Amino acid sequence: MKQHDPCKRCGNCCRGQFIIDLECLDIIREPRLLEQSKPFKGVKGPCGLFEDEDGTIYVAHDGNCHRLDQEPHCPFLTDDGCFIYATRPYACLTFVPGCEKCLEVSDLDLES
Ligand code: SF4
Ligand code: SF4
Repeated sequence: MKQHDPCKRCGNCCRGQFIIDLECLDIIREPRLLEQSKPFKGVKGPCGLFEDEDGTIYVAHDGNCHRLDQEPHCPFLTDDGCFIYATRPYACLTFVPGCEKCLEVSDLDLES
């Protein structure tokens, strides 16, 4: 039996209706997010992978420090959908089509 897909492919969840806070691992997985985001909350520096004197690699994290710039829409939104779909931020990855937030925005007539 074919499963019902609640996503209408309207793309409105990518058109500035939600704040997308980026996590450190989002930026490490997809470095282009850093160029398209703004720091907030008094950030000291970008997140990243660093190497200790003894060669230990670690992840530095100042907290949720960058916010995806979505004016007027996410810079990664294209006519064919998300340009970085495979490495999209965790917040996008976990957005559930058909959820309350989705229903709030899916019928809005927003700028493309
Ligand atoms: S707002 Fe909802 S229906 Fe529209 S693309 Fe996003 S998940 Fe799909
Ligand atoms: S990164 Fe992709 S899924 Fe997330 S808001 Fe932008 S276009 Fe949408």
